[in-house]
Amino acid sequence: MKSLITGGAGFIGSHLAEYLLAQGHEVAVIDDLSTGRLENIAHLLDHPRFHLAIETITNEVVMDRLASDCDLIYHLAAAVGVKLIVQAPVHTIETNIMGTAAVFRAANRYRRPVVLASTSEIYGKSERVPFAEDDDRVLGPTTRSRWCYAASKAVDEFLALAYAKEYGLPVVIVRLFNTIGPRQTGRYGMVVPRFVAQALAGEPLTVYGDGTQTRCFADVRDIVRGMVALAECPQARGQVFNLGSDREISIADLARLVIDITGSRSKIVYIPYEQAYEAGFEDMPRRVPDVSKVKAWIGWEATIPLEESIRAIVASMKP
Ligand code: UDP
Repeated sequence: MKSLITGGAGFIGSHLAEYLLAQGHEVAVIDDLSTGRLENIAHLLDHPRFHLAIETITNEVVMDRLASDCDLIYHLAAAVGVKLIVQAPVHTIETNIMGTAAVFRAANRYRRPVVLASTSEIYGKSERVPFAEDDDRVLGPTTRSRWCYAASKAVDEFLALAYAKEYGLPVVIVRLFNTIGPRQTGRYGMVVPRFVAQALAGEPLTVYGDGTQTRCFADVRDIVRGMVALAECPQARGQVFNLGSDREISIADLARLVIDITGSRSKIVYIPYEQAYEAGFEDMPRRVPDVSKVKAWIGWEATIPLEESIRAIVASMKP
């Protein structure tokens, strides 16, 4: 079995590559190293079943060859990170829409099944938690850059389901909720690697807003296991699944937990959203997945406690 991972040098993609290799699969990766990093996959480069193309997914010639030469595609390449999205909205829209269109065109040419990595951001600022797959979405206005991410990923989902409907292409959509683990960088805004780095450096932990907003964090090891199980489940084709943990924690409590685990003397500082992102920035007060569908269909649930994930991240970031 040969899997192609777009965005395979990224945080989640590199863990997925590792997992598939350990399962005995052959793995090809395409990554333009925009947010992905070669060091994430440095330890895989000499593996006999690992292949890398440093290229953008919009290069149709390369995508065509890679799609023809694989059995299944995990499409993870995308613009990620709230900070990057607010700062580079053109890049976000172009990457997420044109890139995904190129991947599906190539996949459909050879009838390759596609697992599309989508996002909990899709649900927007709906206050009806937990979010179930068929719930309505509540997005802010187009004048707020943040929402271009949710809108562009929603177009990706529409496209995937359209290929399934019109051409019978096997697709599975996984909506990932805040995924954490080693190799995730805080450069594009992600809170856990930022807090851990701040705590290890003895710097203040920067909580945005009043810190009462909540998230549910899942370990990347659980997430890749779930993605592969869904990819290998024929009944899951044409379906959308939430993938995440349903343990909710406020960002202020997360900061305290990171300080506790690292034994840091860091303090917590509260930074207004408009200073952290841009004027008028809208955050979600709560984000909790309803994970009953994936549990019912394939028996998957997140198993690794948040404390253990944080400890693994601390170990990977210690100098
Ligand atoms: N956040 C924070 N301090 C930081 C980075 C992020 O308080 O240094 C907050 C952010 O405003 C949000 C939560 O942490 O409420 C999760 O942010 P992240 O960017 O990790 O993920 P997302 O917003 O996509 O859930």
